[in-house]
Amino acid sequence: MAKEEGLECSFCGRKKPETNLLIAGLDAHICDKCIEQAHGIVLEESTEDTDEALASELSLRKPKDIKAFLDEYIIGQEYSKKVMSVAVYNHYKRLLQPPTDDDIEIQKSNIIMVGQTGTGKTLMAKTISKMLNVPLAIVDATVLTEAGYVGEDVETILTRLLQAADYNLEKAEKGIVFIDEIDKIARKGDNPSITRDVSGEGVQQALLKLLEGTVVNVPPKGGRKHPDQKFIQVNTENILFIAGGAFDGIERVITKRLNMQAVGYSASKDDDKVDEDNLLQYIIPKDLKDFGLIPEIIGRLPVLTYMDPLDAKTLRAILTEPKNAIIKQYQKLFKMDDVDFKVNDEALDLIVEKAIEYKLGARGLRSLCESILTDAMFEMPSTDEKELVVDADYVLSKLTKTTVKKLKAVS
Ligand code: ADP
Repeated sequence: MAKEEGLECSFCGRKKPETNLLIAGLDAHICDKCIEQAHGIVLEESTEDTDEALASELSLRKPKDIKAFLDEYIIGQEYSKKVMSVAVYNHYKRLLQPPTDDDIEIQKSNIIMVGQTGTGKTLMAKTISKMLNVPLAIVDATVLTEAGYVGEDVETILTRLLQAADYNLEKAEKGIVFIDEIDKIARKGDNPSITRDVSGEGVQQALLKLLEGTVVNVPPKGGRKHPDQKFIQVNTENILFIAGGAFDGIERVITKRLNMQAVGYSASKDDDKVDEDNLLQYIIPKDLKDFGLIPEIIGRLPVLTYMDPLDAKTLRAILTEPKNAIIKQYQKLFKMDDVDFKVNDEALDLIVEKAIEYKLGARGLRSLCESILTDAMFEMPSTDEKELVVDADYVLSKLTKTTVKKLKAVS
């Protein structure tokens, strides 16, 4: 016993009785206090490492490199990809800037994307987070409500981000939040209602602080079901927010504005002909305000971009060209059963034709392929056949009336 008491921490020299715990190594001992201190150093070092990793990673990725990465996964959407590349580059430049003594503060480059559903808005956010290797939380604005109402408080957005970052706070604070369906919380009409607008303006107000950068008390498990949980303080200063929405009907707002401008200017400018098939390309922040977003929200989403509608050529390319194109994925799946899966051009054209005919968009391409290939994926692993060739007849034979009905119902 006496010998035990004579033991001391080899790091700080504390005697065993002065410690809560003394752990023995081969030729040395360490006390609980030194373990804690050492742990702190390890944590500090590792965040420095991630900062350095992020810095070196980003120094390699100039806007053109970012765009090239996006090109591998996203077909078309040239304008959006360019704008996003610059916004992401500036955002991370701001994040990595050494402290300066001038008064120039770089504003956050939060982004708002306007485009029909299925045109690749979520894909864009996902691809950027993949490229930067930062966590991504995808949230739906429609479930958010003001505090005190049934639904989710805006803080739960950050709960998702923490979860996506495996509760690594440092990582979460440099992550990306994609807020989908932002258009659904627009104020309806121009008359502020007497009854409270639960899902609209109040939520926009609640989002403001988050977008701008603030420290938020976040319930790590989310929701109100766990009242005892300890809050985690999350600083949103360096979180990149990307909002997306279809803004159904905003074309009318744009047309109205364009017509008014046409009256204001000379009517003979026929080189400025408006492209009626893609009115979103003319969108300006004021249109979002007229649609029902409050000016403060628009101000905090300073980068505005739009998605082009997907034409047949783009849909066709989406099937086969991206790095993880749908057809490539099926080829890989079949390969695992030693099956060589081939699909000819006519079949691909037909799939695109059907996606357009049934108004299924890009998302429908996958469900169409799934319907066409389910029988083969069911049968072939149990047979000795080593080749599957899909042509137009094969496609037609699998797209029965019932299948089509089902596809339309889920789209
Ligand atoms: P949105 O968020 O605009 O509703 P998504 O990003 O969820 O659309 O797109 C749905 C699916 O369609 C994606 O998983 C992707 O496979 C495909 N897709 C849509 N647009 C493109 C595109 N431009 N390039 C490649 N794939 C696309």
